[in-house]
Amino acid sequence: MKAEILAVGTELLMGQIVNTNAQYISSKLPEAGVGVYYHSVVGDNPDRLEDSLKLALERCDIVITTGGLGPTQDDLTKETISRVCGKKLVIHEESLNKIKNYFSRLGRQMTPNNEKQAYMPEGCIVLKNNNGTAPGCIIEMGEKAVIMLPGPPVEMKPMFLDYVMPYFKNKGAYSLKSVILRVFGIGESAMETKIMDLIDGQTNPTIATYAKEGEVTIRITASVPMGQSAEQILMPVVNEIKRRTGENLYSDKDETLDSVAAGLLFENNITIATAESCTGGLISEMLTDVPGISKVFMGGAVTYSNEAKMEYLGVKEQTLKAHGAVSRETAAEMAEGIRKRLKTDIGISVTGIAGPGGGTDEKPVGLVYVGLSSEGGTITKELRLSGNRKKIRTITALNVFDLIRR
Ligand code: ATP
Ligand code: MG
Repeated sequence: MKAEILAVGTELLMGQIVNTNAQYISSKLPEAGVGVYYHSVVGDNPDRLEDSLKLALERCDIVITTGGLGPTQDDLTKETISRVCGKKLVIHEESLNKIKNYFSRLGRQMTPNNEKQAYMPEGCIVLKNNNGTAPGCIIEMGEKAVIMLPGPPVEMKPMFLDYVMPYFKNKGAYSLKSVILRVFGIGESAMETKIMDLIDGQTNPTIATYAKEGEVTIRITASVPMGQSAEQILMPVVNEIKRRTGENLYSDKDETLDSVAAGLLFENNITIATAESCTGGLISEMLTDVPGISKVFMGGAVTYSNEAKMEYLGVKEQTLKAHGAVSRETAAEMAEGIRKRLKTDIGISVTGIAGPGGGTDEKPVGLVYVGLSSEGGTITKELRLSGNRKKIRTITALNVFDLIRR
């Protein structure tokens, strides 16, 4: 089933509000076996709404509109759509009573334009509005259907979840289920090459990869016929991809690398402290984004200058002289220094050249050393990153979380 989401409202076109309704509905429909093919937006104008609706009905099976169901003059979605679909508007007693009750509860006088909300297209399925007065509805026309929902998200969302999703699920022949695998430390094209034969050879499930800042997300999506198990379709492919990604796989749920690393610290009650140079506190910031991190994160130091590295972390002057601030040796002493100073189980460190200036032939922009010191010893890792300052810093931080995770 192909769907189009048609948002109605001049304020959307004027940029006064963002079309979050379309985003919300799109994020839910695949679960019910409905594919979203188009989003469109039209103002509160009957002629243009008519054109948009006709076009949507030509190219899709399902048209879902939001907005324009209220009592005011500019709310004309129901009137226009009913006319285009050749349906008379008839009074819907249950809705009328509900609106009457609503007004008597509030002790307010009901006006005729409120009554307008109780007129529904003949023969439609009425969708109750449990959070407002304007009901929604479904007009079925053979294989096609138009579904009208109110504009305010607080009314639209529950109506959509309570009535529209079950409507599709009862009807639908299949639903979509996805597994998300997240991989760090291997580029998108390298990742694709590893699984190219699977991507090419599969129609159900389908496999897609996307890359963002050093990470690759692999989405494996199955369309599941009613009565069949999603696991059966998904797991053979998921397991094969897991086998091929090996150590680089950090999550088979939709989680971020920093939350996975923080989770491991929590679970094992491992305390941590940070010594950062070129990331300037970014790692501490990401750690402190995780609620409850105070149990394991003791603190950190941003030691930018050589003096700060010596004074604060006890990095030796001869280390800095012999190897420079951006070196394995300095990274190791920084990690050891912060661990001793804050008496934690592990200390981590970062020192590097984030650019755009400051690089040399020997030590180019993007050269970064990260260190991890623990009771068992100190490990360091050299990174050679590309991109602008912000990207280099972000990928560095992610590498630190990857190091913690392993
Ligand atoms: P009402 O009974 O409140 O008039 P309605 O169904 O007539 O509801 P609109 O008048 O079109 O809906 O919109 C009412 C409000 O709902 C807007 O001012 C806006 O805050 C919100 N809204 C409408 N459409 C959207 C949308 N596509 N995405 C997010 N919010 C929206
Ligand atoms: Mg309105």
